[in-house]
Amino acid sequence: MILLLFGPPGCGKGTQAAHLAERFQIPAISTGEIFRAECKAGTELGRLACQIMTSGGLVGDDIVNGMVASRIARPDCAGGFLLDGYPRTVPQAIGFQALLRERGLPDPTVIHLAVAEDALVERLTARRQCPKCLRIYNVMSQPPLETGRCDDDGEELITREDDQEAVIRQRLAAYRELTGPVLGWYGTGAVRTVDGALPPGEVTRAIENMLLATAAK
Ligand SMILES: [Zn+2]
Repeated sequence: MILLLFGPPGCGKGTQAAHLAERFQIPAISTGEIFRAECKAGTELGRLACQIMTSGGLVGDDIVNGMVASRIARPDCAGGFLLDGYPRTVPQAIGFQALLRERGLPDPTVIHLAVAEDALVERLTARRQCPKCLRIYNVMSQPPLETGRCDDDGEELITREDDQEAVIRQRLAAYRELTGPVLGWYGTGAVRTVDGALPPGEVTRAIENMLLATAAK
């Protein structure tokens, strides 16, 4: 089972990745984690990626593909794996497909957690922080006892810069521009779209049902 999980910021992708990994006993791998591990291990690719990242550059497709190739060759991936946030570009998708063919692995199941942009904005702008103790609240899911005030110290809660609507809309637009072509490359017939606006438990069930139905075919 090879799963590729796509979804915009705030869609709950991390939570779903963790659930799926546990349910199907496969590792959930993000490229960020691979980068950090390779950097730490001091492999040739890792050192290269480290240098590029410290200088603020974008790690090229060949390096990313190379690190994913070595990661999925590890024994814990023998029964399958989930990749979160990869492939990020069409050349990465092409490279990954070639790698799967070369190793005789099956085509990946591409899962897209779709959530309407306004719903994401509503979710993401609901975060508040206490400027004094830095505790995070969510006016929708984890509100403070008294509106607008920290439970611990009564300080007035603020909306962080990162959680401002304009910043969030920019991040969502960047995600669309990046991921749209990758999903397009896999094709609408291959991409399994799951309604990410449902409660997390229902999203997990929807993905599981889809995977079991696909496997039964
Ligand atoms: Zn506080």
